[in-house]
Amino acid sequence: MQVSGLTLREMSLSDICRSNTGVKLRASAEPSALTRELKGDKQESLVDMGSGCDLFDEMKNRFLSFKKHKYMENSEHFQALSKGQAPKFMVIACADSRVCPSNILGFQPGEAFMVRNVANLVPTYESGPSETNAALEFAVNSLGVENILIIGHSCCGGIRALMNMQDEVDSSFIRSWVIVGKNAKLSTKAAASNFSFDQQCTHCEKESINCSLLNLLTYPWIEEKVKKGVLSLHGGYYDFVDCTFEKWTLDYKESIMDGKNRVVVKNRSFWC
Ligand SMILES: [Zn+2]
Repeated sequence: MQVSGLTLREMSLSDICRSNTGVKLRASAEPSALTRELKGDKQESLVDMGSGCDLFDEMKNRFLSFKKHKYMENSEHFQALSKGQAPKFMVIACADSRVCPSNILGFQPGEAFMVRNVANLVPTYESGPSETNAALEFAVNSLGVENILIIGHSCCGGIRALMNMQDEVDSSFIRSWVIVGKNAKLSTKAAASNFSFDQQCTHCEKESINCSLLNLLTYPWIEEKVKKGVLSLHGGYYDFVDCTFEKWTLDYKESIMDGKNRVVVKNRSFWC
């Protein structure tokens, strides 16, 4: 009944989205089969069907499609997820609307514990609490993820803001946050000063990922697991201009050699 009800409801919404006012009035006057099936509070969620097509109509359609084609068809999997999660990945990605990791890398529910922030930055352990390291703490110490993947991307506005900063003492929230990546900016300025500003930004987009990988090692409970070989740290770079993805893994032993803070990577691959 539920599946058939969903079909009816989706068809009604779809019809409404293509309709004129007359059809909307008819929809209000003649409740769908599902509306008739539901009682009480649930009915309220369906009687707004005639309120016009907006962003939430489309969102509702997408949710119902997800429910029908993914949730209902994999109900055992989702029932198991309702009891707990055991993702293998912790993903740190930018808040940018174009770079959703679930969309571009296909992470399914339960596969990746995720935090997204401006410019996919990781503050050091010493810099104090933030939502990013709160998520890291839970993912590493409670969920026991085996991999942390930091994903940067092309045309990152957060990195551009970092590179544009003239006065690092600034009260805006964005600048107060992206200053976390100041080491990446400094090394970019040192290594790519002859390049154009756009090229410097691209360089910094990747450099900041490596700085964040090093910052991860400032957390004692992360370094301990990396040292034991039960946690791996990875970088990723999504270029949405030509749709390529570069992935690499931090070589812990080589990176900490001589006590120097440097990033040595292994298993670099380029997906195009
Ligand atoms: Zn970004």
